[in-house]
Amino acid sequence: MAYDKDNIFAKILRGEIPCNKIYEDEFALAFHDINPQAPIHVLVIPKGEYVSMSDFTADAPDELIVGFFRAVGLVAKQLGLDEPGYRTLANIGEHGRQEVPHLHMHIFGGKKLGSMI
Ligand code: AMP
Repeated sequence: MAYDKDNIFAKILRGEIPCNKIYEDEFALAFHDINPQAPIHVLVIPKGEYVSMSDFTADAPDELIVGFFRAVGLVAKQLGLDEPGYRTLANIGEHGRQEVPHLHMHIFGGKKLGSMI
């Protein structure tokens, strides 16, 4: 799937629309989800034009893949979620119900979560 440069997360990365940012480095940006599904619901997005996990892991430079996943772990830790635990989730494509076509990792926490699907 071709990357749509006008998707909402691309606009957030370009600073064209605001986000409630909690972390940023050269590889990733993390911000609170606008419609939280748990007491803590954060999104982490890589700084690059990738729609899916397949695109990202096949085409992104190694340092970006490492940097992105490091950021996910760091953000969860900074949110104090390591010990009680949390969930990461990436929705991909139609069956995954992906709404925004820029790869993103959800971090859910702040309570004991329900079942997987
Ligand atoms: P999905 O693509 O299905 O994994 O989910 C996209 C997520 O992005 C949803 O949880 C939305 O609530 C969230 N979202 C959409 N627009 C924004 C925005 N402007 N700022 C923060 N989160 C957003």
